[in-house]
Amino acid sequence: ATEANEKNVIMVTGGSGLVGMGIKTFIENGNQVEGEEWVFLSSKDGDMRKRDDCEKIFEKYKPTHVIHLAAKVGGLFANMAAKVEFFRENILINDNVMECCRIYNVKKLVSFLSTCIFPDKTTYPIDETMLHDGPPHPSNEGYAYAKRLIDTMNRAYAEEYGCNFTSIIPTNIYGPHDNFSIQSGHVIPGLIHKCYLAKQDQTPFTIWGSGTPLRQFVYSIDLAELTVWVLREYHDPTPITLSVDEEDEVSIKDVALAVAKAMKFEGEIVFDTSKADGQFKKTAGNKKLRKYLPDYKFTSIEEGIQKSVDWFVENYEVARK
Ligand code: NDP
Repeated sequence: ATEANEKNVIMVTGGSGLVGMGIKTFIENGNQVEGEEWVFLSSKDGDMRKRDDCEKIFEKYKPTHVIHLAAKVGGLFANMAAKVEFFRENILINDNVMECCRIYNVKKLVSFLSTCIFPDKTTYPIDETMLHDGPPHPSNEGYAYAKRLIDTMNRAYAEEYGCNFTSIIPTNIYGPHDNFSIQSGHVIPGLIHKCYLAKQDQTPFTIWGSGTPLRQFVYSIDLAELTVWVLREYHDPTPITLSVDEEDEVSIKDVALAVAKAMKFEGEIVFDTSKADGQFKKTAGNKKLRKYLPDYKFTSIEEGIQKSVDWFVENYEVARK
């Protein structure tokens, strides 16, 4: 068979999470290309922190392409409480996956960074070139340093072994299949869960912090579509930010109000300013993305929140929370 006729096996590590399920939904919605086989892994297929488990998975599926999502992830409060675990577990997972991709001649590896790993003291908007320009915010330095090293190693693997490894920098992601834990989840799923309980118990909907911080949120299905585009079309080791435009940045307060509206919550809304706010803003520029895809239209925050709320309400029993 010529190379063009060979089957591509695209393996997604962490395929059962928020982003992985977004990619699965996108692919199942008529976006699978002929000759592609998709494999979505979860921790049940093996513990990627263990080199043996990782090698067995590569032996079994023989992937030609890998989208690497598996990671220990959590919100501000979880990160502050377990820096050692956020560093070590991510370092182990990433080292195993990258080295297996080299050994098993994977043609393309796309890993995930995050805007929350960028220097704390910086100018805005942040872009792909500024990743290593200063220390991250102390609240998540374990996670941040582990993630930053993916970029370092993508360049090193390209230089030394000619590997085609790259990375994506998403802003905050939300959507169906998120982790809706109030204690350890991210802001949107946490607010959705809290608002659900407030409505059910007829208690106030309490938001941690002042509500003033600004964030860019990307809907998981949009991110899925753009990730598949990176896999197929973007071939450069330097990272690419996948984010809504700068003018689509919203305050946590606006997000909370959108959640309340989508949930049809009509009770009292309270901001608990005794809780930490985190970084005030971390505006990311998406010029690089816009150079390639000037007309890509993102799902609006209102529509994305409505779909996420509907999913949570319909799947309350099975949702991670
Ligand atoms: P989730 O927490 O929703 O999913 C994590 C996935 O990783 C799950 O499939 C989980 O499997 C798997 N996993 C975790 N630990 C292991 C392990 N030791 N071995 C094998 N698999 C493991 O994460 P997201 O989908 O939110 O995140 C995907 C990627 O995007 C991550 O790399 C994250 O750092 C990055 N990112 C996420 C952001 C966000 O807002 N959510 C923002 C920026 C970046 P199981 O279901 O079996 O537990």
